[in-house]
Amino acid sequence: MGDCLFCKIAAKEIPAALVHEDDDIVAFKDIFPQAPVHLLIIPRVHCAGLNDLAPDVLPALARIPQVAAELARAHGVAAGGWRLISNCGPDAGQTVFHLHFHLLGGKPLGGKLVH
Ligand code: 5GP
Ligand code: ZN
Repeated sequence: MGDCLFCKIAAKEIPAALVHEDDDIVAFKDIFPQAPVHLLIIPRVHCAGLNDLAPDVLPALARIPQVAAELARAHGVAAGGWRLISNCGPDAGQTVFHLHFHLLGGKPLGGKLVH
């Protein structure tokens, strides 16, 4: 997608603090971290979000939990606990319309997903 921020980060046209990249998936630090560890994990293939899954994104999607677990270990939050979230649409507060998963950890994250 020509004007998609996260496509441009995946293509290294816009800088980001990359923490993982492979053929299907890129991960980088969130620019406004909400926890000591706040990473964004994205498929390289453009997809607006979970409402818009197409077959070409499914290989990346299938591997994202495993990559997240590896990143949680590498960033020292596996034992303490972490959360993997994808905001989809307005009520969820999605602001970037390239599918992404927030990996959050490094502090108690609260017992509720909704408040
Ligand atoms: P959403 O609100 O769509 O679930 O999450 C979008 C996330 O992207 C936000 O947490 C926001 O801080 C992050 N973000 C927005 N612009 C940039 C950017 O240019 N670079 C990086 N690394 N993160 C960004
Ligand atoms: Zn994109």
